[in-house]
Amino acid sequence: MNASYEPIKIIHWQKAILLWLQERVEVLDFHSAQVRSISKSYPLPAVLKLKKYINVRGNNGVRLTRQNIFIRDNFQCQYCHEFFSKKDLTIDHVHPISKGGLHIWENVVTACNKCNNKKGSKLLTEFGKIPLNKPEEPKWLPQTELKYKSKRVPEAWKQYLDLEELGW
Ligand SMILES: [Zn+2]
Repeated sequence: MNASYEPIKIIHWQKAILLWLQERVEVLDFHSAQVRSISKSYPLPAVLKLKKYINVRGNNGVRLTRQNIFIRDNFQCQYCHEFFSKKDLTIDHVHPISKGGLHIWENVVTACNKCNNKKGSKLLTEFGKIPLNKPEEPKWLPQTELKYKSKRVPEAWKQYLDLEELGW
């Protein structure tokens, strides 16, 4: 967790021990298991809190995924301004990849199949339309970023997680 008690990441136990030995985290809870090195044994940390607050949103940003691009753009085609469901939407590279465009937040927009076909690998000047909203990196971090692979959440985690909010 962040210094603010906000859960931010699930890490491997070896990384957890390392952070603990580096005194970068406080261990708030342990698993009952022990881990052994050659000379010592340690209780296995279950819940860690960073001593220093890190700006998760600023440092890591929002992951550039199809879903997140659609969420940013409200599931609205940025060229014809109509709303669609996920299956009828595509990602358009404003400055086409084939012409040196990059796959970055500032160069991707939500487009419906029809508009994307029409645009193809044209530049905006050739296409004659500009995206409804200027594409930018969103400032939010979706709740769903923190996913658990298993529904069996360790007992020690429960008091720190808003499980209801995650649908359990
Ligand atoms: Zn469209």
